[in-house]
Amino acid sequence: MTKSRFKLVLFLIIVSSSYLFPQVSPDEALKFLQSGNSRFVSGKLDKKDLRGEVKNLQNGQSPYAVILACSDSRVPPELVFDESLGKLFIIRLAGNVATPEAIGSIEYAVDHLGSQLIVVLGHSKCGAISAAVNGGEVTPNIEKLLHYIAPAVKEAKSIGEVPDLVKVCVDMNVKLQIKNLFAHSQLLEEKAASGSLKIVGGVYELSTGQVKISGH
Ligand SMILES: [Zn+2]
Repeated sequence: MTKSRFKLVLFLIIVSSSYLFPQVSPDEALKFLQSGNSRFVSGKLDKKDLRGEVKNLQNGQSPYAVILACSDSRVPPELVFDESLGKLFIIRLAGNVATPEAIGSIEYAVDHLGSQLIVVLGHSKCGAISAAVNGGEVTPNIEKLLHYIAPAVKEAKSIGEVPDLVKVCVDMNVKLQIKNLFAHSQLLEEKAASGSLKIVGGVYELSTGQVKISGH
């Protein structure tokens, strides 16, 4: 294939894939998530054709949002945002921590799949946060995980007596992990500065199913 023909083929592939998977702006993506969560809370879920989606998505994906969530079994992002296949690129780690592996996965979605919104999603009564607050003996691997949460606990404790320290730490941990995403990823930092990426926080309330978005 000649060089110019190769360029033409490449151009056509890019054009056709953006036609098949139009990019969703950060604000639009946030609206999708918020309306999905409202449907989840009200119990009026969208009808989904999962078998059809399997077929439609077999050759590509263009998730409109990346969610860095906790592994807690009660907070599965696709369900709490009433979403289908191919829409959310999800990284789940106890305490929704931005480890290098988590950041690498996020960079992949932003750089190669066109995602323009990242949500760091904490939740009420998080076990990982409670463990970081209460201390005690844990395995070396859990210790490594808690190490990412420790600065949030330190900061929360520094503000003095609060009625619910875990709750304060959940909020602070979301903010801390957002800060870590910017601090440890040049790609995310540059994309956010150019306006083609937004990073927001959210906290899922176990008692209601509602996600409160912050920092946008
Ligand atoms: Zn948790």
